[in-house]
Amino acid sequence: MSVKTPQTMGQQFERRSWAEPWKIKMVEPIQIIDRAQRQQALQKAGYNTFLLRSEDVYIDLLTDSGTSAMSDRQWAGIMTGDEAYAGSRNYYHLEETIQSFYGYRYVIPTHQGRGAEHLISQAIIQPGMFVPGNMYFTTTRLHQELAGGTFVDVIVDEAHDPQNQNPFKGDIDLDKLSALIDRVGADKIAYVSLAGTVNMAGGQPVSMANARALRELCDKHDIRVYLDATRMVENCLFIQEREEGYSDKPIAEILLEFCSYTDGAWMSAKKDNLVNIGGWLALNHEDVFQLARNMVVVYEGLHTYGGMAGRDMEALAIGIKESVQDEHVRSRVGQVRYLGNLLTEWGIPIVEPVGGHAIFLDAKRFYPHIPQDEFPSQTLAAELYLDAGVRGMERGVVSAGRDPETNEHRYPALELTRLTIPRRVYTQAHMDVVAESVKAVHDKREATKGLKMTFEPTYLRFFQANFERL
Ligand SMILES: *Cc1c(COP(=O)(O)O)cnc(C)c1O
Repeated sequence: MSVKTPQTMGQQFERRSWAEPWKIKMVEPIQIIDRAQRQQALQKAGYNTFLLRSEDVYIDLLTDSGTSAMSDRQWAGIMTGDEAYAGSRNYYHLEETIQSFYGYRYVIPTHQGRGAEHLISQAIIQPGMFVPGNMYFTTTRLHQELAGGTFVDVIVDEAHDPQNQNPFKGDIDLDKLSALIDRVGADKIAYVSLAGTVNMAGGQPVSMANARALRELCDKHDIRVYLDATRMVENCLFIQEREEGYSDKPIAEILLEFCSYTDGAWMSAKKDNLVNIGGWLALNHEDVFQLARNMVVVYEGLHTYGGMAGRDMEALAIGIKESVQDEHVRSRVGQVRYLGNLLTEWGIPIVEPVGGHAIFLDAKRFYPHIPQDEFPSQTLAAELYLDAGVRGMERGVVSAGRDPETNEHRYPALELTRLTIPRRVYTQAHMDVVAESVKAVHDKREATKGLKMTFEPTYLRFFQANFERL
C-alpha cells in the first residue's frame, strides 16, 4: 500500500498555496467599535482618516511606514544596545550589514529617510540645478527643492495610467532624460534620483535592464545616480518574477546587482528594513561622504548614531538580514496581491498591476458621479472606515493641493484611495475583512455623496483638512 507523502501528493496536483515564514509569538489585542461610535469618531475627525485616533481603528492600512512587526531576534537585539555616545558596537554591525547587502562603501545613519534625503540633497545640489527622477515622492522632492534644485519627472508615460499592464511602470524614460541633458547640459544635472519601487505610481517596479541602461547613459555624461532604496527588496521580487535571467537568482543577489548600477542610496528603514524608526545614507564616493558625514553631526547626531539609539541600530541590522529573505518578500507581496485579486475578481476598480506595498482603489471609476472637487478618494476613505473600521488614506485632489500661481485645486490624473499593508502584522483573514468591506462600500456606491471642505490648512493640507458630508 502506498502512503501519501508530500512528494507523491505533489505529483497529483500543483501546489500553489504559500504562507508566511514565521509564526506568531505575541499578539496585540485590537477592538472594533460599533457603527454609531465610528460615525461619531469620523465626524469628530472631520472625515479625515489622518485625524482618527488609532484606538478607534480596527484594521489600520494608513501606511506601511514604521508599522512593521519586529521578530523575536530583533527584540533580542534591542537588549544588546550599546548606548555609548561614540563608536557603539551596534553602529559597526549596521555598517557592515549595509555594506554586505547593498554593496556600498560608506554608511551614515539617520533618524529616518528624510534625514538622509536632507543630507544628500544639501551635499550635492547647487541652486539652479536639475534633479531628474522616476516620479516625485513628497519628502524627496521637497528636500531637493529646498537645496535649490528643480525636480523633473522622467518616468515612462505608462506610469500615469492606472490600467496600463506594463510590468515595469517604474522605469525611467531614457529619451526624456537624454532630452533634458541636451537641453540644460550635463553639468546642470545634480544627479539622477532613481526610486525602486515607485510609491506614487502605485508601488511599480524598475527593471534591471533599465537600471543598467541608465548607468551607461549617465557614465557617458559623467552624471551620478542615487537610489531611493526604501522598497528595493520588493522591486527585486518583481525582477525575479518578470525579467528574463533572474528567476533562479535570490533576492539578495538581485539587490546587490541593482545597487551596483548606482553611486549610493538613501533609505527609510521604516519600510523594507522592518523597524519602527530609522534610516541611512550609503555612498561610494569619498567626496560626498565627507560632506554628508560632516553635516550629519549638525542635523542628526554623531556619525556613529545619526539620531538612532544603539538598540535601534541593532534591530535595524537584524531587520535588513530578514528583509532580503526570499520567503519573506514573497509572502509580503503575496499578501498585497491576495487582497488585490479578491477585489479585481469582484469587479472593483484598482491600479494594475498590483504593486509591492499597497492596493490603490481608483476612486474616479469607483464613484464616477462624484466630481473631483467633491473629493471622491477622501469620500471613499471615509466610507471604508464607517463600514468596518478599516483605515486607508486619500491620494488624489486633496493630497495634490493648490496651484501656487492660480490658487485653484490641482486636479491629478490619478484620484486614488490607498490601502497600505504593514509587514508581518495582519493575517489573510484580516485581508478578507478588508475586501468584504470594500465590496460593501462598492455595492452602495450610487447612493454615496461627496464631501465639502470646511477647514483647509496652508501646507500639506491632506494631513489636517476637515470635511462635511454634502
Ligand atoms: C517614506 C518614504 C521616504 C521618506 O522616509 P521617512 O522615513 O518617512 O522620512 C522616502 N522615499 C520613499 C519612497 C518613501 O516611501
